[in-house]
Amino acid sequence: MIIVKNISDLNNIISNQSSKTSNIGLVPTMGSLHDGHLALIRDANKKCDIVWVSIFVNPTQFNDLNDYNSYPNELENDIKKIRTISSKIYVFYPSVSEIYNNGVSSEKFNFNDLDKVLEGKHRPGHFNGVATIVKKLFKTIKPLKVFFGEKDFQQTIIVREIINSYFPKITLITCPTIRNNYGLALSSRNKLISKKALNNSGIIFETLLFVKNNFVKTSYKQLKKSVKQKIEDISTFKLDYFEIRESETLNPYDENNKKKSYRAFICVKVEGIRLIDNLLIN
Ligand code: AMP
Repeated sequence: MIIVKNISDLNNIISNQSSKTSNIGLVPTMGSLHDGHLALIRDANKKCDIVWVSIFVNPTQFNDLNDYNSYPNELENDIKKIRTISSKIYVFYPSVSEIYNNGVSSEKFNFNDLDKVLEGKHRPGHFNGVATIVKKLFKTIKPLKVFFGEKDFQQTIIVREIINSYFPKITLITCPTIRNNYGLALSSRNKLISKKALNNSGIIFETLLFVKNNFVKTSYKQLKKSVKQKIEDISTFKLDYFEIRESETLNPYDENNKKKSYRAFICVKVEGIRLIDNLLIN
């Protein structure tokens, strides 16, 4: 397995690889890999001649310093997991100064307010940080295909915007959300909550399924009320937000037109950790 830590080595390897194939795949991650990440890497390994996995906890996408400082970091384990898929996969594991040598700050993008709703509303600046690192990675690794998870659905919309604006030749491949036996979407942050909370966490997906099953016959107001009740029935769970939006555009839900493609988005604070999930509901 080749692990590359600096940009000049990366540039050398990429220029060599690009002369042989254009079919390079990239799976950007923040590490502490779980089966959700591995599903993306496996898909990339099937569809691309060369696969790069980046592992970088990107400071500019965190608006909460505690969240950044407590983010798990397990490089050795990550490498072992990647090796179970293939030892030919390349890992890019840069330091913060390698990526942000001109200062740790985000480029400012115009996403026509796609970055101001849902996660963007609750984490100001988050998507400028995401877009900054994604643009840097796309520019240096020069992938033909990039792999992102539907778990972070709004992120896939932002990545699509970056591709449309700067990298029209890149294909975005999205992969379905991988869940544990309770239905909880796998996330590196799940490691930060107690066993007891984990045992109760299936309620998040159950609530999304409830919304899907009741969406046609129930008013938005009533759905919102039921969602809050179901989640906050567990004393340590607090609903951060629940919203239904158009799947492609993230436009607000129009109750008079239930035929459009809608998606339910939820964020629950569990012992101070934000867990997000979403589901296509029609
Ligand atoms: P992260 O390390 O959290 O930045 O995630 C890296 C990539 O893995 C992103 O494209 C995520 O959407 C994706 N991902 C994270 N969790 C899951 C999951 N449970 N199922 C599928 N993809 C996921």
